Amino acid sequence: MSRSTTRTFTCPCGEVFTSQLYEYVNVAQHPQLRYTVLVGLLNVSTCPACGRRAASACPFIYSDPTHNLLAYVHPRCDVPEEARNLVLEKLRSVYTDAITLQEQQEENGERVARIPPSQAKELPPLQVVFGLDQLSELINAALDPEERLGRIALSTHSRNEAERGQFVDIARKLASEMECGIEVEDLPDEYIVWLYGSRRQIGALMRELAPRG
Ligand SMILES: [Zn+2]
Repeated sequence: MSRSTTRTFTCPCGEVFTSQLYEYVNVAQHPQLRYTVLVGLLNVSTCPACGRRAASACPFIYSDPTHNLLAYVHPRCDVPEEARNLVLEKLRSVYTDAITLQEQQEENGERVARIPPSQAKELPPLQVVFGLDQLSELINAALDPEERLGRIALSTHSRNEAERGQFVDIARKLASEMECGIEVEDLPDEYIVWLYGSRRQIGALMRELAPRG
């Protein structure tokens, strides 16, 4: 299962809002999260009042069992060498501790939930990744062309708040029907709503939107 926590943020503009931060992403269960990663928006909080964004610096695990991908992701790519080594050191000790604990429990005759050997063989090796770009590269390399990121922009030049609100509501409904994600670009003279998902989903969406007859 994917695991996330809801955090409260206070924007420099004064707005207080909540946002979900993922610690564990399993795209077998939540395929949409793969595309949230690919557009660079995973664990990025957007202020609903002013649109200011803040990226979380908390690491997370990305798991895609179908594509044999398991990664520990540190969201910043500009981590200095020393800090990288610390992260790797810590990861190593977490694993060693887990193994030692399991061995101790076995010695004590405690029954521990173990991964059956048949499943253990299928566990992909854990890769350590710094930055969402590096993660995107790994993901793209594993995906078929049809599964890669596709996007379509819907835009209006209306400056009317109510009209923009209606526009985004329609886009949101469309996105949820097609299981796509949305991203809003709120510019003074243009209001753009990006729908994103796999190329297959976006292709289907475009066929839905295309005029018939
Ligand atoms: Zn704000």
